[in-house]
Amino acid sequence: MLRLLELASPFSSHTLEQQALRNGEALIQTSHYDATGKSQSPVNIVEGEAVTSKNLKSLLRAYHPVNGTLTDVRFTVVVQYPEDSGFLIADGKKYALKQMHWHSPSEHRINGKRFAAELHLVHVSEDGRVAVLGYLFKYGHPDPIIGQIHNRLNELAYEESAQIKLVPFHPAVLKENPRKYYKYIGSFSAPPCTENVIYIIVGKVRSISREQVQALKAPLDIQCKNNARPFQPLNGRHVELYDEDRSL
Ligand SMILES: [Zn+2]
Repeated sequence: MLRLLELASPFSSHTLEQQALRNGEALIQTSHYDATGKSQSPVNIVEGEAVTSKNLKSLLRAYHPVNGTLTDVRFTVVVQYPEDSGFLIADGKKYALKQMHWHSPSEHRINGKRFAAELHLVHVSEDGRVAVLGYLFKYGHPDPIIGQIHNRLNELAYEESAQIKLVPFHPAVLKENPRKYYKYIGSFSAPPCTENVIYIIVGKVRSISREQVQALKAPLDIQCKNNARPFQPLNGRHVELYDEDRSL
C-alpha cells in the first residue's frame, strides 16, 4: 500500500489517473473489473466499422530526454515522468506526458485479435482531461524502449526496491508520427474505470520479444500477471479512423 501512496506524489493532486492507479489495489484484491458506465475501455476495434474522419489530424508530439522513475505498482510496471517531459497535441489541445505502463496481453483488440502486449502513454491536460496513446505489440524482434530498461525490470523483480531512477530516458523511437490511428472515448481500465478518457490507438503494430514480455510480468503480483481488462461493449460509440494513406 505504501508503494501505491508514494506513487501518487508525482501527479498534480487530484488527477483521475492517480485515482485509478491507487485503486489498482482493488484489482489486486478482487480481480474484479465490473463497472456500471456505458463508455468503458478497452474495446474491440473492427476496422471495417471505424469511421474515417476528416476532422482528425496528424498527431503533434514532443518528448524530451528526462530522468523517469520506474515503479512497480504490482498490477503493472510504470515509468513516471517528471514535469515538462513532453506533450501531445490532439484536436488542438495540449496534454502533458505523465507516465507510461504496459499491459500483457493487449487490452485493445483489432478485428477480434488480441496482441502480445500494449503500451499506454498517459497524458493529462491542464484542465484534467486524460489522453492515452496506445501501441500494440506482436511477438517478434525486441522492442527498443524495453531494451533500454530490461535490466532495471529485472531489478524490480528480484530486489526489494519498488522504485528505480532511470538514466536519461525517453521514448525516442516513439517520435515517428503514426500514419494511422484509431480514436474513441473510453475509460480507465482499472477501477474506478472513470470515463471521458480519450484513447488513441496506433494502427501500426510494433514487435516485442517473449523475454521482454516475461520481464514486464516478472515484477507483478502473481494474480496480476495477465493485466488486461476484458473488452467492453461500444454501446453505440464510434471509433474514428485517421489514415494518412487513405486521405491522400
Ligand atoms: Zn493502461
